[in-house]
Amino acid sequence: MWDLVKRFLETMRVDRCAIAVCTPGEPSANLIVGYDRFKEDPWVEGINLSLDRYPDIRWVLETRQPLVVPNVAEEPVLSDIKDLLLSLPIRSMLVVPILRHNQSIGVVSLSNRDTVQEFTRDDIEFCRTLANQAALNIEQSTLFQEAQQRANKLQAIINLAKRMTASLNLEEVFDFAVKAAAEFLEVPCVWLWVADEERGELVMQANYGLQEFTGLIVGRIPYGGGVIGRIMDRGESQYLADVKQESRWLNKRFLEEAGIVSFAGIPLISESRVIGVLSVFTRSRRLFAADERTLLGTFASQAAIAIANARAYQQIQRYASTVAELYEAATQVSGSLDLDETLQKIARGAAASTDAASSTIILFDQFGEVTHIVDWEIGEIEVRKDGISRQVWETGQPEVLPDFGTAPPETVNPRLLELGRAAAVCLPLQVRERVRGVMWVHYNEPRSIAEEDLHLLASFGNQAAIAIENARLFTETRRLANTDALTGLYNHRYFYHLLDTEVKRARRYGRTLSLIMLDIDHFKQFNDRFGHLAGDEALRSLARILRKNSRRVDTVARYGGEEFAIILPETDLAQAAVQAERLRSAAEEHQWSEGYLTISLGAAVLTSEMSRAEDLVRDADRPLYQAKEAGRNQVCLGPPLSRGGR
Ligand code: GH3
Ligand code: MG
Ligand code: MG
Repeated sequence: MWDLVKRFLETMRVDRCAIAVCTPGEPSANLIVGYDRFKEDPWVEGINLSLDRYPDIRWVLETRQPLVVPNVAEEPVLSDIKDLLLSLPIRSMLVVPILRHNQSIGVVSLSNRDTVQEFTRDDIEFCRTLANQAALNIEQSTLFQEAQQRANKLQAIINLAKRMTASLNLEEVFDFAVKAAAEFLEVPCVWLWVADEERGELVMQANYGLQEFTGLIVGRIPYGGGVIGRIMDRGESQYLADVKQESRWLNKRFLEEAGIVSFAGIPLISESRVIGVLSVFTRSRRLFAADERTLLGTFASQAAIAIANARAYQQIQRYASTVAELYEAATQVSGSLDLDETLQKIARGAAASTDAASSTIILFDQFGEVTHIVDWEIGEIEVRKDGISRQVWETGQPEVLPDFGTAPPETVNPRLLELGRAAAVCLPLQVRERVRGVMWVHYNEPRSIAEEDLHLLASFGNQAAIAIENARLFTETRRLANTDALTGLYNHRYFYHLLDTEVKRARRYGRTLSLIMLDIDHFKQFNDRFGHLAGDEALRSLARILRKNSRRVDTVARYGGEEFAIILPETDLAQAAVQAERLRSAAEEHQWSEGYLTISLGAAVLTSEMSRAEDLVRDADRPLYQAKEAGRNQVCLGPPLSRGGR
């Protein structure tokens, strides 16, 4: 522009030259550059000129014609400022418009001090040419400025995106996205719709500038529904300068009441999947020109990235916390050796750590018969012969029922429907190649169980299966350790353990407790006569007789050899005597497979002087010997009662 001014000054031989630009409709112009030969500091720039004080500039801008003033004193356009100009003293001037696309965008103003100058047609023509040059310069610089502005906007978007993606909280990202979109795109209203893939619906996650109309907005739109659903479906943006152009709106009332004129909807795309729609509404007509579309697109893709990131983070977090909870549950489970307790813990752990509403564990024996059912929050449930549990037990493959509503009715246990469950997973519990059982987890909502969820549950299931196996082995070992292999009765060691417990309990609560000791008569002879195998068989038979003729609360144990003991809680000596007699006669009347056997019995009751289990055993042993001495096949009683029986 300075060069241009110099050329004006040289060619036209004027004292002053200025180039000013203005935006149509603005009340002032901007003096880009000016030169005054008589000033000490001749160059000026960047001065704002109010058009009220420069009627010459206004006139030229408005008429788009040159203003040729050979003599300021005689020019009517300048009548208001004539005195001022003459005082400067400015006598003649030429003002030509700078035109772009036939619009005034500025003026070149030339003037002389003191001298009256007649501007020739050539002068005017020359000035117009230079003014065109100025117009080109201005245009270029405007383009440059616009480019600069765009670059600034892009930078702003990038900053925005950084802030948006910095948050890993989904709600925060949603809110920030609509707010940022509104500010940044200079639109009053923004909606953010995010896809709920399981339901095939768009869910309104955040809105800006439309709070007072939320009552009119439906929070969910099916894919393909209305304008926004269609953008989701097609993955293509839509721009409407006038929303009335479109007939597919689901909610015309909202548009009317909110005074919406223009609309732009941009799909949010992450990794080539549409994950939502960003909708922008304006209350004044907006064309959404190419530039703006680019900005909207850039913004939308940044928002999509932010949402995808926050989602991924949430998923990872959920996954991590599930892993932690399952691990915790698994550790707890492995510590337990009681089978029922273990199963309870697993059932609870599996349900709690995967947000399930309930769970069931079913163990099978090798023939597929159910041996254990433990549940968490579900109560008795019937295991059907050809149900999924058995199928999973047979195949060792997990089964997923993501939605009971769409599953074949026979696959869903009616009890689950009664309880309002809507989805379930059934996992095999496998130890060393063998499926021992299955674990169910039930959910209250339909849900697609992701591969990773299944994987997690399966690894928990494996842990659980090992714990179950441990507990089972432990329980079995303990059972073996406490029972007598020949008769299946409790052994000597466990008999003392139980008697000790019973003695303590009876003493603490002041309850009665009796004990019967018994011994087979002449068993040595029996062995000698029929052999040890027959003797063993006879011992087994006697164990059965004793068990069959005892109450459930009584404990029958093999004390050793051919001696047995029976613990009788809540039983006084008189009742024990009756019981002993019952056993004696049962043995006597039994049809032994070989020969003939009788037993002698001694009974005693716990007294206040006794403190230990052995005292009671001794007190029952003594009458047993008395019974032997008295001729066998009879019952003798310890103190305070003396002899009894037959
Ligand atoms: P009584 O008690 O009437 O005085 O005579 P008894 O012959 O039963 O007396 P004793 O206690 O001397 O003999 C016990 C016999 O029981 C000795 C042993 O041969 C037999 N016996 C002990 N344990 C077993 C066992 O596990 N199997 C077999 N077959 N016999 C056993
Ligand atoms: Mg004996
Ligand atoms: Mg004997």
